[in-house]
Amino acid sequence: MLMSGFELMGLRPEIMRAIEELGYKTPTPIQIEVVPELLQGGGDMIGLAQTGTGKTAAFGLPLVQNTDTSFRAVQGLILSPTRELAVQIATDIESYARYTPGLKVLAVYGGANIVAQMKQLKGGVHLVAGTPGRVLDLISRRVLNLSELRWLVLDEADEMLNMGFKEELDAILSSTPEEKQTLLFSATMPREILSITRQYMREPREIAVGQRNAGADKVNHQYYMVHAKDRYEALKRIADLHPKIYGLVFCRTRAETKEVADKLMKDGYNADALHGDLSQAQRDYVMNRFRTGNIQLLVATDVAARGLDVDDLTHVIHYNLPDEPEIYIHRSGRTGRAGKPGTSIAIIHTRESAKLQLVEKKLGKKFERKLVPGGREICEKQLFNLIDKMEQVEVDEHQVESYLPQVYKKLEWMSREELIRRFVSVEFNRFLEYYRDAEDLNPSERQRQEAREFTPRERTRRKGEGYGAEQGFSRFFINMGRTQRLTPQWVIGMINDFTGRRDIPIGRIDIGQKFSFFEVGSAFEQEILKAFRKAEGVRVKLAIPEDNAENPKGYVKKGRRKDA
Ligand code: AMP
Repeated sequence: MLMSGFELMGLRPEIMRAIEELGYKTPTPIQIEVVPELLQGGGDMIGLAQTGTGKTAAFGLPLVQNTDTSFRAVQGLILSPTRELAVQIATDIESYARYTPGLKVLAVYGGANIVAQMKQLKGGVHLVAGTPGRVLDLISRRVLNLSELRWLVLDEADEMLNMGFKEELDAILSSTPEEKQTLLFSATMPREILSITRQYMREPREIAVGQRNAGADKVNHQYYMVHAKDRYEALKRIADLHPKIYGLVFCRTRAETKEVADKLMKDGYNADALHGDLSQAQRDYVMNRFRTGNIQLLVATDVAARGLDVDDLTHVIHYNLPDEPEIYIHRSGRTGRAGKPGTSIAIIHTRESAKLQLVEKKLGKKFERKLVPGGREICEKQLFNLIDKMEQVEVDEHQVESYLPQVYKKLEWMSREELIRRFVSVEFNRFLEYYRDAEDLNPSERQRQEAREFTPRERTRRKGEGYGAEQGFSRFFINMGRTQRLTPQWVIGMINDFTGRRDIPIGRIDIGQKFSFFEVGSAFEQEILKAFRKAEGVRVKLAIPEDNAENPKGYVKKGRRKDA
């Protein structure tokens, strides 16, 4: 038995049983460092650790063991950058607590009905995993009470800062009691993180751990981000950038599979479709042609591709990100086999970053972002591929010899340079022509940011279903509170003074210690933002849904899986 086994860490039998069922046999390096220390109630910790290192269990297991379930108070708070991660963390913790009766875990996040979350909180919850914006909002409404907090975990701290949550983090950290244990996990340690650790942590112990499975598999994971409407065009460019590609393109539905394959064939690619509408004979035929290399790109649904076993695929392309990370992992495992390197490419749209993070977490590896190649890059690649092909071509002396004297004679007038120029153009013109006015398909940074925030659908949902603000009202965060002696009257005064008008409908105002929230008629959103920009030292921003999942998952209750 390993000296570092879970058995020796002092975990209770009911937690050991849950771990066994999850299939964890030996603890990961970060678990070896963190679990015993947290179980014994040690000091603050900074973990330089990427996703996939097993950090959720590293803090989750001790939290489950040390939570006093007979005490009805929030004892642990885990902050994470996105809704998906918050839900995942809550679900993971719930699975460790499968045999620990009475422990209640809740995920809270923006973009979902706040009233339901408030109700759950009031019902008594021990551990909360949430996104910073929503957590702060719940604190300001005095539904989330952190006065008994014992553990604060900042997960993916660098991502939270990247997403613009600095103010929310400051406000939350300053609302927690002095006496508690703080853990911060981050894949990188930029200056802003160090300043947080200096300001809010006490002599933290630093630990750094590598990837769990780094290098174990030979698949390189990449993603291209485009607007949803540009998906097909991006696929084409990826194919054009890899003239020797031999890959599977996964689509979600039969209809999409057919459509993409048809378009590819029409556009001159060596492609075909594999889906459930085909007869067994047709499927065998297509698979055979793919296996023998007569088809370069096989567009398939997950189900149809099941029976296909090919070892030397260069690429697996995800035309869509699947909803379940496991499916992504299964798909991408079809390349990088038999000791050969492979590339798995996900084409995602601007609102899927959170979904991608979830895959990264399951996969234990980071994706590399690639920019969609432009015309120049593709043409260059194709040109050299053509030249390579020419250099490597096998010349059949006997067959071609008899024609050559005539050909030489006909081309006599041409210089060597002219000959090459024309020869290259024969095949190459197709690409040059196609990519002459090719657009840049990479969304701008601004578009990416906007996509992360509101879409018309989210606006409607937010207002219609009580995202947070009253119907027809928008909720704003302001970086002032009781510390600055902020009162509701003062808020109303500022709104009137800064905008210079008296007719703006003002809704709910929640004053917190160092921050507050107020609501204003949605028609005046932009006007408020503009007016407050002029006020020095005062920061006002929309309390927006902080993430952008398409499938908000619900409350995670003990004993019930989120997907049940
Ligand atoms: P995390 O870094 O917390 O996102 O975990 C990455 C993945 O590793 C998750 O799917 C966990 O379920 C899994 N995992 C965590 N700890 C262990 C362990 N000791 N043995 C095997 N798998 C683990």
